[in-house]
Amino acid sequence: MLNGIGNMAWLGAATLFILSLRGLSHPASARRGNLYGVTGMVIAVLATLLVTGGAGLQIALIAALMGGGLGAILARRVEMTQMPQLVAVLHSFVGLAATLIAFANFLSPKITMNGVERAIHDTEIYVGAFIGTVTFSGSIVAFLKLQGTVSGKPLVLPARHLLNAVVLGACIALGYRFVSAPDGGDALYAIIVMCVLAAALGVHLVMAIGGADMPVVVSMLNSYSGWAAAATGFMLDNDLLVTTGALVGSSGAILSYIMCRAMNRSFVSVILGGFGAVSSTACEAPQGEVVATSVDEVGSLLRDAQEVVIVPGYGMAVAQAQGTISEITRRLRALGIRVRFGIHPVAGRLPGHMNVLLAEAKVPYDIVLEMDEINDDFTSTDVVLVIGANDIVNPGAQEDAGSPIAGMPVLEVWKARTVVVSKRSMATGYAGVDNPLFYKDNTRMLFGDAKGSIDALLRQLEAA
Ligand code: NDP
Repeated sequence: MLNGIGNMAWLGAATLFILSLRGLSHPASARRGNLYGVTGMVIAVLATLLVTGGAGLQIALIAALMGGGLGAILARRVEMTQMPQLVAVLHSFVGLAATLIAFANFLSPKITMNGVERAIHDTEIYVGAFIGTVTFSGSIVAFLKLQGTVSGKPLVLPARHLLNAVVLGACIALGYRFVSAPDGGDALYAIIVMCVLAAALGVHLVMAIGGADMPVVVSMLNSYSGWAAAATGFMLDNDLLVTTGALVGSSGAILSYIMCRAMNRSFVSVILGGFGAVSSTACEAPQGEVVATSVDEVGSLLRDAQEVVIVPGYGMAVAQAQGTISEITRRLRALGIRVRFGIHPVAGRLPGHMNVLLAEAKVPYDIVLEMDEINDDFTSTDVVLVIGANDIVNPGAQEDAGSPIAGMPVLEVWKARTVVVSKRSMATGYAGVDNPLFYKDNTRMLFGDAKGSIDALLRQLEAA
């Protein structure tokens, strides 16, 4: 009876997770998608507690309350700009949980199986521990890189691909030993050595990926954590965990592929590492003069324009300038000026980062366009307002073969009549590359914190 209810609840939860993914594919339905996901997860946890309950129910409830409480506190405290770090830490938890569950399963005296059944179960344990450990150590390195504690530069060891292949080969050989070992001691030794090797592999894989490719790493680890959960599902004979893990694993892999395509990177090369390194051809230093501008000048440029495109980047998120930008948009549109937004797929520090901020600030969805939708329109644009963006508008990606971001598609803002860049200094962006845009004849630099500059611009537009 209980199992029947549990299975029905799991089916319902899995359906809600699928609906959630569908909802999250568009800003207009994202909130609903999130709600489906939360409801599905609550149902899944309650059903699992009900089915597996018994003596462990109290402990499971306490653990769920503690985990839920901690999660709520963390989510409330974290700044939107620190979201990728939080996501990386959460992925590391999934990896660690998969490894710990694999060990608990292996050591559990309750599980008595023989023959093929035993071999399959042991393989599930081994694969779960392997993926879990790679995810755990890789996510910790990703966290340290995103936090800036570890340099974003790729660690390119000699013969690194061979090294990875040897470690992988050793893990497979140890897996054979684990499954075929006649006694528990031998198997335990094999799985512990494999975990040490898998942890080193996770560290090396992520250390080898350059700063500019970190968005792909974040979504790739998301995919790994899904596969780790699916492996755990097989181990525990839990259909919902298998389904959910496969959903997360495949959607993360698809997202990584989409991001690679958006950044003109080969998926396999990013995973194998070494991208984002400064290439052997020297990167050219930008030449020309930097022209600073004032809020008054930008105000009159905007009022005289017919076509305006706003390009937000990471700095807008740091400054929390999206509310004022939304106000400025309303004001300019009331003056009959056509205002649109151009969003790069890796703007900010999280896929969809800018879309979330603009949606929060109530910028209408229909004027927020993807890079491919707006790139051809810059030639007929009067003013482009670049707010706290840098790498995503760097013409060096197209013009300088020696640039670490060479080949990455960018928003071609320099083709507009005038480009205004709001940032605090001449500092580089996440990829650490100089930006020739700032030296172009039609570029004007509006120096200062984006919130301060944009607030002053709004006041100027209101006063005029
Ligand atoms: P960048 O990191 O290239 O540039 C942001 C710019 O914002 C900086 O140059 C900085 O210049 C400026 N800035 C910072 N704070 C403020 C402020 N308070 N006011 C005004 N300006 C400010 O951001 P982009 O969005 O252009 O590009 C994203 C980068 O992040 C890419 O390299 C991408 O690969 C990477 N990335 C993206 C992820 C994703 O999933 N979207 C995940 C991880 C990395 P200054 O200091 O002079 O003000």
